[in-house]
Amino acid sequence: MNLTVIGTGYVGLVSGVCFSDLGNRVTCVDNVPQKIEMLKKGEVPIYEPGLKELIDKNTEESRLSFTTDLSAAVKEAEIIIIAVGTPQSENGEADLRYIDQAAKEIAAAMNGYKIIMTKSTVPVGTNERIRNLISGITNHSFDIVSVPEFLREGSAVRDTFNPDRIVIGTERKAAAEKIISLHTPLTDNIFVTDIRSAEMIKYASNAFLATKISFINEIANICEKVGADVDLVAQGMGYDKRIGPSFLSAGIGYGGSCFPKDTKALIQIAGNVEYDFKLLRSVVEVNQMQRFGVIDKLLDSLGTIQNRTIGIWGLAFKPNTDDVREAPSLEIVSALLELGATVKIYDPIATNNFLNVLNHPYIIRCDSALDASRDCDAICLLTDWQEFKEVDLDQIGDAMRLPIMIDGRNTYTLKDMATKKFLYYSVGRPLIKHTHEQALEYQNVNIG
Ligand code: NAD
Repeated sequence: MNLTVIGTGYVGLVSGVCFSDLGNRVTCVDNVPQKIEMLKKGEVPIYEPGLKELIDKNTEESRLSFTTDLSAAVKEAEIIIIAVGTPQSENGEADLRYIDQAAKEIAAAMNGYKIIMTKSTVPVGTNERIRNLISGITNHSFDIVSVPEFLREGSAVRDTFNPDRIVIGTERKAAAEKIISLHTPLTDNIFVTDIRSAEMIKYASNAFLATKISFINEIANICEKVGADVDLVAQGMGYDKRIGPSFLSAGIGYGGSCFPKDTKALIQIAGNVEYDFKLLRSVVEVNQMQRFGVIDKLLDSLGTIQNRTIGIWGLAFKPNTDDVREAPSLEIVSALLELGATVKIYDPIATNNFLNVLNHPYIIRCDSALDASRDCDAICLLTDWQEFKEVDLDQIGDAMRLPIMIDGRNTYTLKDMATKKFLYYSVGRPLIKHTHEQALEYQNVNIG
């Protein structure tokens, strides 16, 4: 099939590349010329494991191309995939300006029947809005299909090739059949429904996952106070098939380009029909508070943050991505700067993106976890990159001024940390003090 994907970000680029790998002819369009120039040269503007290899292969085999010329790309395509951003607007609602613009540009370029498939996450009713916009501009016939995207950054290629399900929302049987055949190589689990339900499935899924995260984080906070271990609690809960083990890792809360904005958008979608989504409002509030547990633990161990040097391990909102959108690191580092700290930052991939959003004379960029630990009064692990699991913690401890670690992702086992000389805080698990002597030493730090 001939496909055109509009928006070559995390979703559009990965989807376009994977569809080309399945044998389709795909043109990826973006209105940022630098992105397209990079892609034409074989450079990938985002970090996503496995993506570069697939781009090289499918470009070479002439199934994949990149352009800023939306009009030409629309004319060539049978199916047009909308994958532009739907960021959060000031009141929490999804900002649909990129959707509207893409719809108008598609309409102006149409030269015959097209299927328009929306992958962007859009509020209920948006596909009807797209239909109205397009039919107000062109007389050519078209069908609208909502196919919400469920890939996760960091494993986007694997997720695209192995989806749990494909949801197809449309009122037109012929269009549904075409979109089913496009996805059949990926899975048998294709769920065809109406457009509004498809739009809602995406928000409901993300809201439910966010709820699971905030739920386990609250359990973790209670565990800290009652002396239980949240990892063991989650393990015991996860054996129950009705609950399942995934999304029960306690930590500093969710971030990224989806959960924060999609939860807030769903609260607004509900609000627009005068429904107060109380549960989801609490999920958002709990998530917002959770990241500041790191600061509380620093204060607990150091007494004051003023004039301290704090190392930050991990800036991306999750491992295996360079994306820092809504990453907890942004708020935690801002809070540390406000409290008078010097902050040494390290991330394997995301440092440039982080510094583009937040830069400050008291932020020191480091090239390794060790570098970001040297002479620090404490380190905070905010993203659980594999690399951090493999560091030599004895060497790290020796390099620090005070061997204090706040592990925001429960990266290390308590058993392992019991053999290290850190004062080790994690989330929802008991504090580890290495020796009685060291505990006394830390108490002195606290008083000082
Ligand atoms: P993104 O910001 O990474 O990419 C969007 C791209 O669209 C940008 O490159 C932008 O330049 C381009 N664009 C905007 N308007 C355009 C136009 N008129 N013509 C051509 N290009 C245009 O966004 P993303 O993370 O890929 O997300 C896209 C959508 O998918 C959002 O609705 C998001 O909620 C949803 N989604 C994202 C993820 C994820 O993990 N990132 C997962 C599932 C769903």
